[in-house]
Amino acid sequence: MRKITIAIDGYSSTGKSTVAKQLADWLEYVYIDTGAMYRAVTLYALEHNFISKEKFDKEGLIKSLSEIQLDFRKKSPTHKAEIFLNQQNVEDKIRTLHVSEFVSPVATISEVRKKLVEQQQKMGSEKGVVMDGRDIGTVVLPNADLKIFMNASAKERAKRRYQELVERGEKVTYDDVLKNVEERDRIDTTRKDSPLQKATDAIEIDNSEMNLEDQFHIILQLAKDRIAGRV
Ligand code: C5P
Repeated sequence: MRKITIAIDGYSSTGKSTVAKQLADWLEYVYIDTGAMYRAVTLYALEHNFISKEKFDKEGLIKSLSEIQLDFRKKSPTHKAEIFLNQQNVEDKIRTLHVSEFVSPVATISEVRKKLVEQQQKMGSEKGVVMDGRDIGTVVLPNADLKIFMNASAKERAKRRYQELVERGEKVTYDDVLKNVEERDRIDTTRKDSPLQKATDAIEIDNSEMNLEDQFHIILQLAKDRIAGRV
């Protein structure tokens, strides 16, 4: 079967990674979570005191970028790839609300974006890839065969994110999660370099009222049609 490249962009916590993973499993494609890369750089910045509530030493972080090495590794062919920061598995550490609170400012830095986009373009250069993020259809893989842009109401997204964090044992409040989702939307859509926006040729899906199964079947059908060259 002909392989294609699929770009999934959208607002925070719209379930991009869930559907991207489902699609990649079904199609036996490689899944690349670009948000994990921005989160890993943010974790590095926090651990090396380049960023905190009080300060943001952008220049220091930019100078240290060459020290940051990121890669995705799979435990076995059936496992999802996990992200490694300088040889250390940071898959769990990058998912906390603390990292979420600092990631969007870090993602505004052009030098950070340049480094990560280069790596993403290399990983996405072969067909048979599902990549999710904020600028995949517009900047990273502008020639992707299928582009999806996902949206849902901020309240619904915060509700889902809150449940996910509580299930993982984090002590957070719904209000804090909602504030974080809205703040990340604001920074991600207004930054100068590669702001979050729908590519003109992307198909928009609002999943506020959709369950995961329905959403998966809609997107899978779009992918199958594209693969078959029907649309
Ligand atoms: O997808 P996720 O919510 O994990 O992404 C975390 C943050 O990383 C986003 O809020 C955004 O600031 C940044 N990001 C980005 N470009 C991407 C992926 C993520 O700027 N392609």
